[in-house]
Amino acid sequence: MSIAGHLTEIRNSLPENVKLVAVSKTKPNEDIMEAYQTGQRIFGENKVQELVGKYESLPKDIEWHMIGHLQRNKVKYIAPFVSLIHGVDSFRLLKAIDKEGRKQERVLRVLLQFHIAEEQTKFGLSLEEAEEMLNSQEFKNLQFVRIDGVMGMATFTDVIDQVRREFKSLSTIFGQLKETYFSDAPNFSEISMGMSGDYKLAVEEGSTMVRIGSNIFGERNYQNN
Ligand SMILES: *Cc1c(COP(=O)(O)O)cnc(C)c1O
Repeated sequence: MSIAGHLTEIRNSLPENVKLVAVSKTKPNEDIMEAYQTGQRIFGENKVQELVGKYESLPKDIEWHMIGHLQRNKVKYIAPFVSLIHGVDSFRLLKAIDKEGRKQERVLRVLLQFHIAEEQTKFGLSLEEAEEMLNSQEFKNLQFVRIDGVMGMATFTDVIDQVRREFKSLSTIFGQLKETYFSDAPNFSEISMGMSGDYKLAVEEGSTMVRIGSNIFGERNYQNN
């Protein structure tokens, strides 16, 4: 099936309130344009250099989401245009984003990434770390970041109960943070969870934003992506 065909099928399977981030990492501009022609406007990338290159060469009404691990010294390259940064996994990174937002006079939208998987390799905050940050005066002084919700990645496994449990834990974290810290912040509304292999489960557990790559564009050619 074509990219357009895959997109239609996936969109039809998603409830209306769930946003689709088309994960285009490693894929050429032609593939992105094929998706663009069908109306897709949100694309996700996980490498800064690739993201900047694609931003520069593709239509300016694309909303670019940084979905991968972000190094503090690279925030400056994406701060002028990035639409949402999914993977904020430390206070230091959030402060670096605030600093670059200030330089650009742009409030940068971010999601807090939580460690919900059993795998050690995945990045993310614990609820305790997040609360410590949110309670701090230093956090309250930040003016150029806006936290729009949470993000997480489940363990890469076929054990459905485990994946479901991990997604549930992210929904619970979202609810707790919303109640305690963001009850008067309507923008705190996103739960970014679910990829090609597990997005249907994620939607059942409350995802508002799924990040789908290979189901749209086909398998990627190299590892570690
Ligand atoms: C690559 C990637 C995805 C998409 O993965 P697929 O399995 O190809 O859908 C989603 N989220 C993140 C953070 C990724 O790095």
